[in-house]
Amino acid sequence: MAELLFGTGGTPHSAKTPSTISGIERIAELGLGCMEIEFVQGVKMGEAGARLVAETAAKEGIKLSAHAPYFINLNAREPEKIKASQDRILQTARIAAICGAESIVFHTAFYLGDPPEKAYNAVKQYLEEILNQLKRENNRVWIRPEIMGKPSEFGTVEEILNLCTELERLGICMDFAHCHARTGRFNSYQEFASILLQIKERLGRDALDSMHIHVSGIAYGKKGEIKHLNLEESDFQYIELLRALKDYSVKGLVICESPNLEEDALLLQSTYNTLLKTD
Ligand SMILES: [Zn+2]
Repeated sequence: MAELLFGTGGTPHSAKTPSTISGIERIAELGLGCMEIEFVQGVKMGEAGARLVAETAAKEGIKLSAHAPYFINLNAREPEKIKASQDRILQTARIAAICGAESIVFHTAFYLGDPPEKAYNAVKQYLEEILNQLKRENNRVWIRPEIMGKPSEFGTVEEILNLCTELERLGICMDFAHCHARTGRFNSYQEFASILLQIKERLGRDALDSMHIHVSGIAYGKKGEIKHLNLEESDFQYIELLRALKDYSVKGLVICESPNLEEDALLLQSTYNTLLKTD
């Protein structure tokens, strides 16, 4: 991948219709570079629809990713819930591949009071089964668990990086807003840089050359994430983050999940471009 692209989590508000195709067209009109398709309420797109999405994205030169349904918990107590979670990830990966998306992201699990190591082992086992199935299907989409915003949710930077080193074809969805909300920290240049350095050390330079990043403003309290905010209404130091992304020559997709979607995506892109020009 040649550069760092900016886009929205879901169809921009200013698109003609809420459809994925209108979204891609609007992303191109706005001069943004990518979009994450939100299957968060379920994968309702069929194969024919996905082929049209792929054609539109190719024609407009827009890169895609997809967000799997929210209803996933690979550390559930009930085997049927595990199976349903695995199926939702597989279904997302299958449709995403037809869309021409490079990555899918998802919320992996809840600890449900388990020791983190126990949850880790469950998540690892069930993810491995998913990855093996996708390998059999020759599906090349990157599977990326998200860094999560609440201490009750599985998904610290360390946990996801450990999984990435143990499992093939697994990547990280580096959600900087969640990381900040979860810890109350990670909101300065030094801290952002330390995460990038950690990713480079654990996964190699390639990981920084094909990153998948989520950014937004965020409200948080003792239990972590409360809700997403627009960047200017939050304490999130996005300029410092962009500076770190620039200094580490990070490439890939930056998906903006602020409520105002394209406004903040454009703010991130223009700020980043200004940083590039000024040094
Ligand atoms: Zn998410």
